[in-house]
Amino acid sequence: MDYTRCPACGRKRGKKLLEGFVGVYKCPKCNAIFGVCSKGESYKIVSWQWAKETPPDNELQYFDLTVLSADGKRRIHGWRDRRTGDIVQIG
Ligand SMILES: [Zn+2]
Repeated sequence: MDYTRCPACGRKRGKKLLEGFVGVYKCPKCNAIFGVCSKGESYKIVSWQWAKETPPDNELQYFDLTVLSADGKRRIHGWRDRRTGDIVQIG
């Protein structure tokens, strides 16, 4: 996955990193978060569990991560509840 542009809105990436990360960016236009991280880091962004209920629109956030682990790379992308990190929709 090429993360030179925001996968949600297409804006050029810029240099704004998500706080605490070295490879995950936050889009200044649409607030999406995207990039490369370890499995451990990914838990700070997604809980890897489904949301029990659909959050209000203003708590929905697009994410697109390439997660590196001992087993290789795995891409996960979709919408999360940014309060809990629970996954609302994949893709
Ligand atoms: Zn964007």
